[in-house]
Amino acid sequence: MNKPIRKAAVIGSGIMGSGIAAVLANAGIPCLLLDRVPTELTEAEAAKGYTLEHPSVRNRLAVSAIKGMAKSKPAPLYDNDFAERITPGNLEDHLSQIKEVDWVIEVVVENLGVKKELLAKVEQYWSPGMIVSTNTSGISVNAMAEERSPEFRKHFLGTHFFNPPRYMKLLEIIPGETTDAGLVADLSGFCERTLGKTVVLAKDTPNFIANRIGTYGLLVTLSEMIRKGYTVEEVDAVTGPAMGRPKSATFRTLDLVGLDTFLHVADNVFSNVSNESEKSVFEAPEVLKQMVAQGRLGEKSGQGFYKKV
Ligand code: NAD
Repeated sequence: MNKPIRKAAVIGSGIMGSGIAAVLANAGIPCLLLDRVPTELTEAEAAKGYTLEHPSVRNRLAVSAIKGMAKSKPAPLYDNDFAERITPGNLEDHLSQIKEVDWVIEVVVENLGVKKELLAKVEQYWSPGMIVSTNTSGISVNAMAEERSPEFRKHFLGTHFFNPPRYMKLLEIIPGETTDAGLVADLSGFCERTLGKTVVLAKDTPNFIANRIGTYGLLVTLSEMIRKGYTVEEVDAVTGPAMGRPKSATFRTLDLVGLDTFLHVADNVFSNVSNESEKSVFEAPEVLKQMVAQGRLGEKSGQGFYKKV
């Protein structure tokens, strides 16, 4: 290993960031978990007279994510004190602390501009040997790092965990065109041995391998459902438990992934293919766009294809 991974930082404490931090902490790696300062108080916080500056408000995103994970089943997937190895914080106040970590994982919203802006901030605290990776679902790793320094880019790559990170063994690793080959080999070994993942190396093409195929399948299923008038329940009945896939019925999966994230992922391939037949497959149906516009994002908003899932 170029530099042993003893401490990590995860930036973005949503569905994936909190899950990835838990996987690292559970493997004994202390982990910072940073996210944006919330812009609004919850009703309960306002009733207590808190302001946005109150520490519990400033840490609430990450803290609630960790509490959720600690309650998740089956509990034996986590050791008793994994949560103590996660230190939540606000990006604005605590980003400088990444100076002390060996691996920073970017897990914010699937948007090239947001990710580029964040990487520019991360580079301000980059120290020699520090690995920086992105958990993007399919945005180009090279495009994300194009304005970064050559040294930073040698240490930058994609590490695509799958949802939920605690159950899914698959990890796509996507080297950029200038990522150090030794680092790719070392990090792959670390993820297999220490995190228990099965690594598949993928090229930096839109949506890599798993989401290129997976997005295709989900969009075709959604389009056929609309065209033929099938119901959500019918499709899930033939793609879920009865087919030996207890966790992976089509629309339950989409609600788990987050419909906003799925729309970004579909749009990413759509805008990166030029061939008309591919474009027609990867164009997201209107119903998906409408659901996202209405805030029906799946489990994270309480309603997606299913209500309070
Ligand atoms: P999420 O919506 O649950 O969380 C995104 C987090 O990003 C939020 O906590 C939000 O506060 C933060 N954020 C948003 N804008 C920000 C900004 N400008 N600066 C800093 N933080 C910001 O999303 P998620 O599902 O956890 O996805 C995160 C990343 O992981 C995305 O790139 C996504 O494509 C990828 N991914 C998602 C899945 C999935 O199934 N949801 C699977 C694999 C990869």
